Amino acid sequence: MQVLVLGAGQLARMMSLAGAPLDIKVIAYDVGSEEIIHPLTQEKIGKGLANAIEKADVISAEFEHIPHPILDECQESGKLLPSPEAIKCGGDRRMEKALLDKAKVRSAKYHVIQTKEDFTQALEQIGIPMVLKSALGGYDGKGQWRLKSHDQIESAWQEMKICIESTNDQAIVAEEFVPFNREVSLVGARAKDGTIKVYPLAENIHTEGVLSISTAIADNELQQQAETMFTAVANQLDYIGVLALEFFDLDGTLLVNEIAPRVHNSGHWTQQGAETCQFENHLRAVCGMPLGSTKLVRETSMINILGEDSLPSEVFELSGCHVHWYGKEKRAGRKMGHINVCGDYTGELQRKLANLSNLLDSSAFPAVQQWRDKASN
Ligand code: AMP
Repeated sequence: MQVLVLGAGQLARMMSLAGAPLDIKVIAYDVGSEEIIHPLTQEKIGKGLANAIEKADVISAEFEHIPHPILDECQESGKLLPSPEAIKCGGDRRMEKALLDKAKVRSAKYHVIQTKEDFTQALEQIGIPMVLKSALGGYDGKGQWRLKSHDQIESAWQEMKICIESTNDQAIVAEEFVPFNREVSLVGARAKDGTIKVYPLAENIHTEGVLSISTAIADNELQQQAETMFTAVANQLDYIGVLALEFFDLDGTLLVNEIAPRVHNSGHWTQQGAETCQFENHLRAVCGMPLGSTKLVRETSMINILGEDSLPSEVFELSGCHVHWYGKEKRAGRKMGHINVCGDYTGELQRKLANLSNLLDSSAFPAVQQWRDKASN
């Protein structure tokens, strides 16, 4: 089987690694350079997108901000999974909110803003504090504003106006501010025959909008709620592949924050912590194979490595510590890799995280500081 992935970053790379034992070959389309490349070596291969589409058995995507003409071209081949509608929902907050409403899944109250009158209505219906998000192009907390007091209304509108006018079809989605206790996510897969398998929930800690640490958790009641919502969204989209739902946990009630129609950073822990990792299950789903078990096999946390391309050698000596580099050029704040830390039980995982945190610099690992704070509470 040959799978063409739209996007040539770390997610395509990890799909390629997961596909090798099953003899599923992954090639990637770099949307920026418009080249077909090998996702591990980054070497250019093949002769352009049309040829790669023709050669591929299946086409999938590693991110949702793909130009629509490319999605249309892939859709025409009949090989694109998940559907372009599902991919577009992840890249447009208006479509995402409409999907959640249709699937009758709870999310923060919202109002779409394109004009000053819309903004006035949003203020009446939602009130302050309010979170304002660009409908297109925002991720990792980018393209967002917090409206905390009435004296910020005019300056917020000026910024929103610039954003709306900067991109064709742009809008702002105003959301009520959710005073959540924590953020969790559910990653799961839906196969061609409609079978759904989900992983245990992950608790996620973000620093300045970027995920820093993700830990698989056991909470039956929350898991049940999350699975019901996941099933509603996946079935509504007739989804095929791995899908992630990010939630706010508000005193035991989950509200969906975002959907990601792809393998997700908060699912990287499955590489060491689950029987079948999310990358393999995505490939199995889109290739029409049965899904692998999503069972937790060991307690695991995933720590993102931000803006750093080396680690002290002691990190590699720690048992249960697995480093995954993405082979990217170093840039401040960039996701350069991650470390999966495993323990046979929760106490052991915490001890390993404590050992690891003593070796890491908190500028590249904001999670370390947060984890230390958490441990001292
Ligand atoms: P997003 O890009 O939508 O995932 O937002 C980035 C981060 O902003 C989230 O992980 C939350 O920590 C925070 N956030 C987003 N929306 C809201 C909201 N409606 N209320 C409170 N915090 C939010």
